[in-house]
Amino acid sequence: MKTYEIYPLINLICDDNEMSAQTYLQNFGKRNPAPVVIWLVKGNGRNILVDSGGSEAKIASVQHHPCEQKPEMLPENLVRSAGVEPADIDTVVITHLHWDHCYNLEKFPNANIYIQKREAEFAINPYPTHWRFYEHPKLGLEMPWLKHLNRITFVDGDFTLCEGVEVYLMPGHAPGMQNVAVQTTDGIYLIASDNIPLYLNWEGADIHRHIPSAIHCNLDDYYATFRKMEKVSDHVLPSHDMKLLDFKVFPSKK
Ligand SMILES: [Zn+2]
Repeated sequence: MKTYEIYPLINLICDDNEMSAQTYLQNFGKRNPAPVVIWLVKGNGRNILVDSGGSEAKIASVQHHPCEQKPEMLPENLVRSAGVEPADIDTVVITHLHWDHCYNLEKFPNANIYIQKREAEFAINPYPTHWRFYEHPKLGLEMPWLKHLNRITFVDGDFTLCEGVEVYLMPGHAPGMQNVAVQTTDGIYLIASDNIPLYLNWEGADIHRHIPSAIHCNLDDYYATFRKMEKVSDHVLPSHDMKLLDFKVFPSKK
């Protein structure tokens, strides 16, 4: 059985996130900082990124939330800190096309890029309430992934990326969301992206077995995705939880 290690690489720390945007109809008025994470999946000669981070902090702070970024948090420095040269990244799986998941693709010039067809279609014509997440031209912005069409494979549904790495279409937070399930020595870890922004979303609270993000298009899809997540994984990794800063690698070495 082929196994991999998963490195959560912290690209930005964004302050002042409204928690009710992460936990649908709950936690109004609570605000928390949120890391933006680039995931490196390493093993068996493969160097795979899941998401490629956000814009530089000074731009992100104008367009979105106030963000901090030390030089070591730039994408090229992050992958080097995990022992990989940017040119040796062979694959980037973009979970969805929100701004904090699909910048920096020019820094990984040899990577094949995978995006769900359904996500690209929605990104081109999203609801007005979602324009800012996609940095849509309606706001005078340029969507960062469009410059890389020559390297993008648009996929339609679940696929096996390589032995031990499965990609699942999991609509929820975004209609064309894809999540990545990675075989490790400690079972299957699911990189759940913004379907599960916080550990709290997966752990649930009160009557809620799991809690959706407030940013979504279809709750039927979202709850079906929760059931699929339970089926295909042993552990679920959130996207924007400050607790991720406590981990250098998954499975964690204690
Ligand atoms: Zn998102």
